[in-house]
Amino acid sequence: MESFNELQQEVLRLKKEKNALILAHYYVPLEVQDVADAVCDSFAMAQKAVRAENDLIVICGVRFMGESAKILSPSKTVLLPSLDAGCPMADMVTPEDVLRLRAEHPGAKVMCYVNSSAAVKAVSDVCCTSSSALRIAKKLDCEEIIFVPDVHLGSFVAAKVPEKKFWLHDGFCPTHHKISEADVLAAKRAHPGAVFTVHPECKTDVVKYGDLVGSTAEILDFARKTETDEILIGTESEIVARLKRELPGKKIYGVGSSFVCPNMKKVTLEALYECLRDEKYKVELPEDELRLARESLDRMVNS
Ligand code: SF4
Repeated sequence: MESFNELQQEVLRLKKEKNALILAHYYVPLEVQDVADAVCDSFAMAQKAVRAENDLIVICGVRFMGESAKILSPSKTVLLPSLDAGCPMADMVTPEDVLRLRAEHPGAKVMCYVNSSAAVKAVSDVCCTSSSALRIAKKLDCEEIIFVPDVHLGSFVAAKVPEKKFWLHDGFCPTHHKISEADVLAAKRAHPGAVFTVHPECKTDVVKYGDLVGSTAEILDFARKTETDEILIGTESEIVARLKRELPGKKIYGVGSSFVCPNMKKVTLEALYECLRDEKYKVELPEDELRLARESLDRMVNS
């Protein structure tokens, strides 16, 4: 039976009183994840928000995750606990950048990683997640693809789809970008029997060592199901903490020093409590942006 601290109990009381649904991303602090109705990656949060009967949805994650939930559930109230929890990678590309790339490569279609603003999704042809990017790139009816914003995920996909020409935007996730080849080699030397799982937001010279290259959800799923009992994790440090707690019989190692997304850590338990208490901060999007971004997400789901 889980035991909750005082503030967690207050959050749970408010959640019940307001009939709110709390969805948390894997990278927010564990004490926030522990009071959530579900812990998942960004697009799964948006999908769960759609299916839920609750009209009040709290997205414990960064801004673009709240936007995705609002895009798919425009009639619901979507709240973000921390207004200044943004995603530096999402902020690296603007709609103007996308329009410029379109003008430079008129025959290309724009594929946009879901880690992007609603405004960027609105000017893209199709969205993708880290787990669906490869499938969508292969199926997309075109010979050239403009991929935004993540240069590393884009490079990973481009290498596996040589029949298409890729134009990559140069954005990156500062947290995953920090993991170096030297970190991986040192960790592999220290744990020679471990299976190395890595997120495709990492650099190419890190991803190339991956025994499994996958989204956060795929890494978690692998760790839970594999018979291997030594796993090296190449992604954000909260995943390492979560798996160590969840799988005490397995040896879970992070790569090098801990790789922390500072924005995800802004989603504290205090911020969540105040968010529920005051029903702030509401995600609002312009009507046109919402509709066009929805079309890009729908094309991802239907492709
Ligand atoms: S881990 Fe990277 S991609 Fe995810 S929210 Fe943080 S900065 Fe953005």
